[in-house]
Amino acid sequence: MFRSAFRCLKTNLVAGQRTMSHQSSLAGKVAIITASTDGIGLAAAQALGERGAHVVVSSRRQANVERAVALLKSQGIQVTGTTCNVGRGEDREKLIQTTLEQCGGIDILVSNAAVNPFFGNILDSTEEVWDKILSVNVKSAFLMTKLVVPHMSKRGGGNVVFVSSVAGYQPMQALGPYSVSKTALLGLTKALAPELAQSNIRVNCVAPGVIKTRFSNALWENEDIMEEFKKQLSIKRVGQPEEIGGVIAFLCTEEASYITGETITVTGGMGCRL
Ligand code: NAP
Repeated sequence: MFRSAFRCLKTNLVAGQRTMSHQSSLAGKVAIITASTDGIGLAAAQALGERGAHVVVSSRRQANVERAVALLKSQGIQVTGTTCNVGRGEDREKLIQTTLEQCGGIDILVSNAAVNPFFGNILDSTEEVWDKILSVNVKSAFLMTKLVVPHMSKRGGGNVVFVSSVAGYQPMQALGPYSVSKTALLGLTKALAPELAQSNIRVNCVAPGVIKTRFSNALWENEDIMEEFKKQLSIKRVGQPEEIGGVIAFLCTEEASYITGETITVTGGMGCRL
C-alpha cells in the first residue's frame, strides 16, 4: 500500500514538474521589448529569451542595438534588433513591421522606455518638459499597446507589461513630472486590463525601486543619498536589472495566467501605497 502511494506521489511530482516547465516556457512566442539595449529592458529581453521567446530589441542608437543583439546571440537567445525612438510614430510603426516580417507575429509587449529631462522643483518645470515626459513615458506606452493588440488577437491572446517605478507611488524629490508619468502607468494598466481581457490579453505592470543602471546612477553613485535611501529598504542594497527582468518574464508566462490589471512592486521592501 505504501509502495503504491509512493509511486502515485512520484508520478504526481514528475507530472507537476512537467507542467511547471511547460507553464514557464515561452517557446514559440515573439516578444517586443522597447528601450532594450541596456539596463532593465536588456535584462527583460534576456529573461524572456532564456524562456524560449524570440525577442525583438530596440532603442534609439544603432550602435547600441548592434551591441545588444550580439550579446543576446552569444547567450543563445533568438533575437532581432532595430532602432526605435518610441516617441516617434514612424519608428513605432517600423518596429511592428520589422517584427511581423522577421518573426511572423507578436505575443508580448514590454513597454519599458522612459525619459527624464528635468530635475528640480515641480513648479519650475515647463510645458516642454511635461510634453516630452508624457509623450515618451505614457502616450507611447499606450500607442505601442494599440499597435500590438490586433496582432496579439490574431494569435489568440498575449501579454503587455508596462515598466513604472516606485516613484509612481511616492513622487521622488526633484523628479515631480517623471513621478507623475509613472503614476499614470498604474492607471493605464487598470484602464486597459478589462477591455483587453476580452481578447485574452493580460495587462500588468512592474514598479522597480532603485536598480543599478545608467538611468539611476545619480542616486546609487552618491553614498549620502544611498545611505538615506537604505533606511526605507528592508533589503539594504540597490536592485539588479535581472531582478526586474525575471518578474517581467514571469508575468508573461502561463504561471501568471490569472493575473491582470496588477502592478508588482520590486523594491527591496520599500513601502508602496498611493
Ligand atoms: P537605462 O539602463 O539607462 O537604459 C535605457 C534604455 O532606454 C537604453 O537602451 C536606451 O538606449 C533606451 N532609450 C532611451 N530613450 C529611449 C527612447 N525614447 N526610445 C527608445 N529607447 C530609448 O535605463 P533603465 O534604468 O533600465 O530604465 C528602464 C525603465 O525602468 C524606465 O522606464 C525607467 O523609468 C524604469 N525604472 C528604472 C529604475 C532604476 O532605478 N534604474 C527605477 C524605476 C523605474 P538608447 O540610448 O540607444 O536609446
